[in-house]
Amino acid sequence: MEFSSKLLENAVREMSQLPGIGKRTALRLVLHLLKQPESQTRQLTAALNSLKEEVKFCRNCHNISDVSLCEICASPKREKELVCVVEDIRDVMAIENTSQYKGLYHVLGGKISPMEGIGPQDLTIASLVDKVRQGEINELIFALSSTMEGDTTNFYIYKQLEGLEVKMSTIARGIAVGDELEYADEVTLGRSILNRIPFEGSLKSS
Ligand SMILES: [Zn+2]
Repeated sequence: MEFSSKLLENAVREMSQLPGIGKRTALRLVLHLLKQPESQTRQLTAALNSLKEEVKFCRNCHNISDVSLCEICASPKREKELVCVVEDIRDVMAIENTSQYKGLYHVLGGKISPMEGIGPQDLTIASLVDKVRQGEINELIFALSSTMEGDTTNFYIYKQLEGLEVKMSTIARGIAVGDELEYADEVTLGRSILNRIPFEGSLKSS
């Protein structure tokens, strides 16, 4: 792509670093921004800057939050002994939308993926194991997507917790293998949490 302006070229290059944004889309977005009033671009960059500088992660569940203990963890209405293990905030949002779940979450921050160089130490698994060791949790519900990485992560955590006093279950899903939680419809997802199955049972059936 030949550019008549270095400034334009730089903006397009930065924009195209985003996932799913090719050079052409980046150019379209940059040209769009160029047409907008300056105040709008300023608001966009300000929002991105403060997001990066000020965002916090809940000290208990590791979800993205503006305060050190997130609203869900701080709520007296939630069952603190029930914890749903998810990959990231999108899963928390999807499950919250079902209004069927009253426990807490543990956000791993990803899945174990040797292909992408993500190991257990890159996730919040140690903190989850700690919480279980301290006897804070009665039941863990694994709600990772049923991809190979999701299964590997479930199994790794299961092995880490073997012998500890905690019930482990996995969401019973009526959706195809490989579907991400984010895309599951609310009714199906809600039902799959209520109809969860013991984790060991899920190992034998697969
Ligand atoms: Zn929290």
